[in-house]
Amino acid sequence: MSGQLAASFSKPIFIATWPFGKSACEKSKSVLGAGGSLLDAIERGINLTELDETVDSVGYGGLPNADGVVQLDASFMDGRGQKAGAVAALEGYPNPISVARRIMETTRHVMLAGSDAARFADQNGFQSRDMLTAEARKSWLDFKARRARGNAEDEKSHDTISLLGLAADGHLAGGCSTSGLAYKLPGRVGDSPLIGSGLYVDGSVGAAGATGIGENVLRYCGSFLIVEFMRQGMTPTEACEKAIRRIGAGEQKPLEQLSVNFVALRQDGLVGAAGTDVEFLCAVVDASQSVLIRPSLVR
Ligand code: ASP
Repeated sequence: MSGQLAASFSKPIFIATWPFGKSACEKSKSVLGAGGSLLDAIERGINLTELDETVDSVGYGGLPNADGVVQLDASFMDGRGQKAGAVAALEGYPNPISVARRIMETTRHVMLAGSDAARFADQNGFQSRDMLTAEARKSWLDFKARRARGNAEDEKSHDTISLLGLAADGHLAGGCSTSGLAYKLPGRVGDSPLIGSGLYVDGSVGAAGATGIGENVLRYCGSFLIVEFMRQGMTPTEACEKAIRRIGAGEQKPLEQLSVNFVALRQDGLVGAAGTDVEFLCAVVDASQSVLIRPSLVR
């Protein structure tokens, strides 16, 4: 299936992480088709995943931190004018991507964090809600019981939606949203809201987004690195693979232990993806098709 990444897609093109990214990309395409802007398309595509409570790693339904509190991270970038907005450790609001976009569009800042980010959301008319679903609470209680028995060391539950889009007129943008690592230390911020780590867009070159263990991405500015490799002429898949190998060399650990996965989209419409997780899939939606693709596995 990874051969499909070499296939040419025609604009508008959306690419996102994980199978849940497929319906998000389809939503993005329909928003654009109905006359919305590319930024509307990306925001509303990601909103769909954020509001899907069956997705336990993004938005409402996301697994909480070690205290049982859902803390969300998100970032948004517009390739036109190098604009960015981000929110970290946001509590009580199910659509952090929309808060990130609002920060980008209405303030002179890039990132707000914690309780002041929630205050900003409230002041901007976002509806707060109890974010801990019954299912997520049950998982958290199970985690606490495992921890009390001393076997909750290796919590693997996490994922992110990183969604990148290229409109027919060449406009490039992207967004990234997650509840982060399940049962993380309260206040932990991952790669997703950090510009250049979980997400990077350069309107004249391309865009990249990440999913996996944020600590292994943010110490290498993974998404920025991929865009820079594309600037040097690499295809999106080559750029993702090279960034993963760079991280692997830095960590001096087997790649399969790193959990770093990327999607990328070049300004000319070429898409690509690579990861260290065998289960990593990405979704691509273009003018005429909607497909799930198995990215290049880097080992
Ligand atoms: N990168 C996210 C984080 O570390 C989690 C994931 O995408 O799996 O917060």
